[in-house]
Amino acid sequence: EEKLSCQSLTPQTTVNLLDSVDVFLFDCDGVIWKGDALIDGVSDTLDTLRAMGKKLVFVTNNSTKSRRQYAKKFHSLGISVSEDEIFSSSFAAAMYLKANDFPKEKKVYVIGEEGILEELELAGFTGVGGPEDGKKTAHLKPNSLFEHDKSVGAVVVGLDQYINFYKLQYGTLCIRENPGCLFIATNRDAVGHLTDLQEWPGAGCMVAAICGSTQKEPIVVGKPSTFLMEFLLQKFNIPTSRMCMVGDRLDTDILFGQNAGCRTLLVLSGVTNLSDLQDSSNHIRPEYYTSTLSDIISLFNN
Ligand code: PLP
Ligand code: CA
Repeated sequence: EEKLSCQSLTPQTTVNLLDSVDVFLFDCDGVIWKGDALIDGVSDTLDTLRAMGKKLVFVTNNSTKSRRQYAKKFHSLGISVSEDEIFSSSFAAAMYLKANDFPKEKKVYVIGEEGILEELELAGFTGVGGPEDGKKTAHLKPNSLFEHDKSVGAVVVGLDQYINFYKLQYGTLCIRENPGCLFIATNRDAVGHLTDLQEWPGAGCMVAAICGSTQKEPIVVGKPSTFLMEFLLQKFNIPTSRMCMVGDRLDTDILFGQNAGCRTLLVLSGVTNLSDLQDSSNHIRPEYYTSTLSDIISLFNN
């Protein structure tokens, strides 16, 4: 079996990388921030890249917020971004439905949080479920049916801190009984930094629950999906060879970039450490790795 190589960034490779890349795609958690805490040096690094004329794009699999809510988070951390530089998996879910001409008269059942509902609404779709169903219970009653809306044409599943048996039954019935009902996953991340000190179960956990009950596989719209990459590429008329995906996760970020022919840089400031990267069971190798985002500026100036 071929051994894939990957190199630690050096001053020389950093100069070459910055010379040959016009667009940086940044994963957020583990690259820009960890939970709600900004990672050291990120703000200055982004300013420097912008001053060099680079286009910056932020791509996050965390579906709990909308682009508007992410723009607020960036601003509160002292980073200026515009909403149209942000691509969240919540937005991707709405854009997938739009790209596939999902009928506006049908409803979308959401097992997830506010971000998905907000993006659905902005795209003109009717989202139901979500936080509102967080306190409902599914009572098991003999001779009485659990009712669900037959006009639900898609179920979107993302991270849901308030997942419960009611939502599982509702989503399962829609997928199993409504003809042609789509099963969409915002992402399948195993875990995420809901807080900066600790990882928590990610959307992969909620998605797996619905896979279990429906025996169906979802359409994934976040990283590493080709849908999201193609959507991004339509917006920026730049060859992928002049794009660099920077991320902390091999099976979402690095794979996302690699599948499209982008340059790839893994930062070790998030969920992947050097021994994970070098483990023989890992078959996803970025082109370069480095400890943290600000290295690309310190190495460049070296
Ligand atoms: N999903 C959830 C719920 C998360 O908390 C996180 C990270 O915090 C992610 C996904 C991954 O987000 P990103 O793609 O920005 O690393
Ligand atoms: Ca990440």
